[in-house]
Amino acid sequence: MASKPGVWSDWPWQSLGAWKYALFAPFVVKAIHENFWGGLHWQLHGGGSDNWCLHMLIIAALRYLNGQLWMNLSRCYYLTSKYQIQTKGITFEQVDRESSWDDNILLHAIVGTMVHELVPGFTFTACKFWDPVGTLILLLLHVGPAEYVYYWAHRALHHHYLFSRYHSHHHSSFVTEPVTGTVHPFAEHLLYLVIIYIPLMGTWLLGRASMSMFYVYAIGFDFMNAMGHCNFEFMPACLLRAFPLLKYLVYTPSYHSLHHSRVHTNFALFMPIYDYLGGTVDASSDELHASVRRKKRKTEFVYLMHATELLSIFHLLPLGIPSFAAWPLNTSSQWYVWPLWPLTLPVMALLWLFGQAFVSDNYQLPTLRTQTWVIPRFGFQYYLPFEKKRINKLIDRAIIEAEQEGARVICLGALNKSESLNGGGELFVNKHKHLGIRVVNGNTLTAAIILNTLPNNLKEVFLTGATSNLSQAIAIYLCRKGVRMLTQSQDLYESILTEVPIGYRQNLVQVTKYQDGQNCPVWVVGKWATPSDQKWAPPHTHFHQFVIPPIIESRQDCTYGKLAGIQLPKDIKGMRSCEMTMPRGVVHACHAGGLVHSLEGWMHHEVGTIDVDRIDVTWNAALRHGFKPV
Ligand SMILES: [Zn+2]
Ligand SMILES: [Zn+2]
Repeated sequence: MASKPGVWSDWPWQSLGAWKYALFAPFVVKAIHENFWGGLHWQLHGGGSDNWCLHMLIIAALRYLNGQLWMNLSRCYYLTSKYQIQTKGITFEQVDRESSWDDNILLHAIVGTMVHELVPGFTFTACKFWDPVGTLILLLLHVGPAEYVYYWAHRALHHHYLFSRYHSHHHSSFVTEPVTGTVHPFAEHLLYLVIIYIPLMGTWLLGRASMSMFYVYAIGFDFMNAMGHCNFEFMPACLLRAFPLLKYLVYTPSYHSLHHSRVHTNFALFMPIYDYLGGTVDASSDELHASVRRKKRKTEFVYLMHATELLSIFHLLPLGIPSFAAWPLNTSSQWYVWPLWPLTLPVMALLWLFGQAFVSDNYQLPTLRTQTWVIPRFGFQYYLPFEKKRINKLIDRAIIEAEQEGARVICLGALNKSESLNGGGELFVNKHKHLGIRVVNGNTLTAAIILNTLPNNLKEVFLTGATSNLSQAIAIYLCRKGVRMLTQSQDLYESILTEVPIGYRQNLVQVTKYQDGQNCPVWVVGKWATPSDQKWAPPHTHFHQFVIPPIIESRQDCTYGKLAGIQLPKDIKGMRSCEMTMPRGVVHACHAGGLVHSLEGWMHHEVGTIDVDRIDVTWNAALRHGFKPV
């Protein structure tokens, strides 16, 4: 069905990437010139300036703000999830495609300035700041000619020839986001420019142009466009009942959503009356509006995480920047979020004072609707003794809320299940004896993944952090397989001795220092190891690790494993954010452990120590459900 893109589909500045923003530079230079040196010069010589470039920049900034605010609102699950229209979720591909939603802001600034330069009298100096009659004329010219021409142009764009070459690009987004409304090929935007200039030029030709008209029309147009694509229905049914004419005059998000899901209906720009007159209104428009406002969806699985470094909160906050969250967190290379640094401390303070667990994202497996919730705390706060009680209270409340929302499994991610905090989740299960929801720390699958990354024919492993549940399980598992375990802990030796069959107990060797690992090329690091600790590892050692945060990669001659992760099954839908530093479609091992628990319908809580006998069972279940080792 898809043909080659038509001529002028690509934007002229497509090859510039992020350098396209340099095209705003001449506007900035001109604005400074007109207001300082040049302005003074002109005034001395009796000249004048209408500050056109400055106004173009302010309009552009307001349009960016409009787009960002709508994105924030539509991703604010607390407010909008109940009223979501299409629930399939969007994909990474869509986030990438729509990351250039702002191209038309640049285009409008450039074309507006060209018209200003070429058409004599098309200036701000020639008009008032505000003209109510002019604004009314502008509105009438929009409601009449602009809407009418758009309707028929849009229908023409749905002709197979134009649709396959141009307009299908916009329709690639089945589920829309507010910025989807401005994502079209370049040539299509040129057509829309002609339509937009009908009211602007018309009002000017009638001598009623005003400076504010340019602001009102640009922001108003963007506002309506983003509203129609926001994918949550906020228009109350009672309002439509009270004002029956409203449904002909203003479209709703569910109305335009049908244009994306059914494709060849509901063509109108902002006013459905043209669809009613043209006989193209979708018969299910009213019903969809009503049903979206009625239905309540259940989340079956909740993964509970927290922020790590300060900037990571903008990766997690659904209000954040979509293209930031769509790539693995790496703030040293993601320079575009550096301007947010000054906001991190106030955000942290607000979250600390008032924060409750919030929904960060959601996605679906064929039989499971999931959500990711965030405990509003940063990694370092988990190590502050006075925070322990408060964090446990937040987790406890999240567990109860997840149960009330109908979830069957809640998985405690990262430090939310730390042993020193709550005994790997045991605290909550002991406190609430009759929990309907299962609490899962996912450690069994984490152990399985670490064990499966170890080389075959392993003879000896140097294990640190031996008091943790994970280390103990790994040690018991490997001892039973005949692998010699060098560990630094007497506690470990005593606590696991009974779980290792008598004939294998000699495999557990207690050592005292890091230098005892100097002949062992496989290090499994379960607690923070400083660069001077690491220097004892022999050359070419691979450091397997499950320590948070990961150890500093100080050895050039060695390799370092990442935190255990696993690829989600292929039939996952609606994933549009990376889980912290994980690549696209990969989640932390414990997260996957919770998913497997849920998919298998296991009825036990997975808290506290790891049942070593379940490591292979869990691993095989994960593979059966389509999870793949990374
Ligand atoms: Zn269309
Ligand atoms: Zn659309």
